[in-house]
Amino acid sequence: MGSADTSEVAPGRLKPILEVLDPRPVLDAAALELLGWAAQYYHHPIGEVLAGALPRALRLGASATGSEERWVATALGAEACAAGEPRRAARQRSLLEFLLGCGGAAAATLNERPGSWRDAARSLLARGWIARTESALEAQAQDARVRAAGPALLPEQSAAVDAVAASLGRFGAFVLHGITGSGKTEVYLRLIERVLAGGRRALVLVPEIGLTPQLLGRFRERFDAPMAVLHSALTDHERLLAWRDAFSGRARIVLGTRSVVFAPVPQLGLIVVDEEHDASFKQHEGGFRYSARDLAVMRARHAAVPVVLGSATPALETLHNVAAGRYAHLRLQRRTAQSLPPRLALLDLRTSAVRSGIATPAVLAIERHLADDGQVLVFLNRRGYAPTLLCTACGWIAPCRECDARLTVHLGAGRLRCHHCGADAPLPQRCPQCGFAVKPVGQGTQRIEETLGALFPGVTIARLDRDVVRRRGELEEVMRRMSSGEARILVGTQMVTKGHDFPNVTLVVVLNADQGLFSTDFRAPERLAQTIVQVAGRAGRGAKPGEVLIQSEFPDHPLLTSLLAEGYDGFARAALAERSQAAWPPFSRLAAVRDSATTAQAALAFLTDARKLAQRLPRGVRLLGPVPAAMAKRAGRYHAQLLIESPQRARLHEFLESWLGQLERLPSARRVRWSLDVDPIELF
Ligand code: ADP
Ligand code: ZN
Ligand code: ZN
Repeated sequence: MGSADTSEVAPGRLKPILEVLDPRPVLDAAALELLGWAAQYYHHPIGEVLAGALPRALRLGASATGSEERWVATALGAEACAAGEPRRAARQRSLLEFLLGCGGAAAATLNERPGSWRDAARSLLARGWIARTESALEAQAQDARVRAAGPALLPEQSAAVDAVAASLGRFGAFVLHGITGSGKTEVYLRLIERVLAGGRRALVLVPEIGLTPQLLGRFRERFDAPMAVLHSALTDHERLLAWRDAFSGRARIVLGTRSVVFAPVPQLGLIVVDEEHDASFKQHEGGFRYSARDLAVMRARHAAVPVVLGSATPALETLHNVAAGRYAHLRLQRRTAQSLPPRLALLDLRTSAVRSGIATPAVLAIERHLADDGQVLVFLNRRGYAPTLLCTACGWIAPCRECDARLTVHLGAGRLRCHHCGADAPLPQRCPQCGFAVKPVGQGTQRIEETLGALFPGVTIARLDRDVVRRRGELEEVMRRMSSGEARILVGTQMVTKGHDFPNVTLVVVLNADQGLFSTDFRAPERLAQTIVQVAGRAGRGAKPGEVLIQSEFPDHPLLTSLLAEGYDGFARAALAERSQAAWPPFSRLAAVRDSATTAQAALAFLTDARKLAQRLPRGVRLLGPVPAAMAKRAGRYHAQLLIESPQRARLHEFLESWLGQLERLPSARRVRWSLDVDPIELF
């Protein structure tokens, strides 16, 4: 962490340094400053924060730079060779001659020669005729060139590029707010172009699901520059290699999901966070829970570079920062192609005939768009065949034994699965209680796929959800079938709302908008509005105008009507006013202590004790709870939470600082697993 000339520790108790592992620190001053800030802000031990910022292989001892194994012939070897040695070993002789001829070679080069060479090298080494060296792999400065110039920018795009470019070399936070297809990515590319031309590097964060071959392809098409790509599907070794490319400065663009915010980027010039509202930027598991978007802004501040937060549906927090003058607002109001924004309409589920989850007007609309050669996207946020297995005779419902949840029917696989704990059981034919036949109730993406198949015989239907992409290569296959036009209808979950561009989709049907309207989580409406706008953005990106149908049992709900009448801006205004009245974030600051235990009692007992410890609260800090989580039992453990709220961030953190230390010493803490989440985005 640092070095000093003197110490308060008695000299006899100081430990000697055995070895210097890395000639250049893996965390430079800027990284230490950022991580130190994160440890303080998220109230997490600095050691774990640092460890979390480094690839596992590095923590286990791999070198930060990587080294190259080289082989050279010795003077003794030269003499031996001149004397005609070795006489009877052709392999050895050939290797020795080769090394003499080229003055030494890397192991990688020797690997490319025909035949194996390791045994021969060992024998030559034993006689002292050749030697092995290991040298640090130094990265050569890499050029970055623009392969193909982009299209001429529209006025709004130019204005956005100019605004951010004027801030290169110092901190500035910019919200690039434009609907899907308005040319945000093009703005990022232009800015990165300037950063590269200035000899600097760019860091790009994308959501878990946004890192598509399409996006990578666009970067590679534009730039002839080494890129390091970091995401969660890499093996430890792959991650190490990508990290080294970033660390050495070889990579000019470092691109990845959440944890890439910690990647080393020497001479950083710009940070981009694409789809900044996306929930995957929030690490909400494990010990160290952070927001990669918020850390990106802090990193930009420390590094004195601009940060661009792009989205069609900025988070309400972000819009609040715009209103407060902390972030600049750059708008892209028009789509780049001559296409019009899609028309949104609500479909009242109470007054239309509904067959297997699809209302008749929606069926007719699908028919119409198919007849017009359009493609159709049907969105339902529930994978599987049906969310419930029911016995109509006795009312039995297949429950998960480990969770307060129902098991989802996966008909094709013949299984019942829990989407919360992963429990998996065979699908029964008869009710275990009364022996009567059971039936799946409700809709999942698989069942919608089946229903549409029956409604539109001969039309090819594709499906995209987590069950599909789990199979390797399936995502690409679905994309291919949609892009080629082979598939005419795509049924999918959240997964279809991001990243993929299907220009021929002219109709989007949102099957159930109501899940987000009546939730215990105050952020649910925001997520619903974002989903609707994002999924609507998939319609009509080509030359044809798009149509969006939203099925709901509550078409008069103010959230839906404001969203339809005034778009996301109108919704955001109304939702922020509501949050302000209720004193929810961003008008207050929140932290959550969550715990889980083997009994509901133990989970509540710890949080109750924790609350008692805070008898005398500082002014302006409130405790809410403890309460059992909305789904209290999950994976066999009982969950509860206690919220800490304050209108002032400083007050909240002051309180947490003194309180958390005491929590650890509570006897009831030993019976639970607990964690702190600062700025939680999901409340249970
Ligand atoms: P977003 O990131 O906002 O979804 P993109 O940058 O991907 O938008 O742009 C949408 C499409 O329009 C892409 O195919 C892109 O190549 C194209 N595009 C972007 N800017 C322009 C422009 N100024 N002129 C013509 N086409 C453009
Ligand atoms: Zn029964
Ligand atoms: Zn379960």
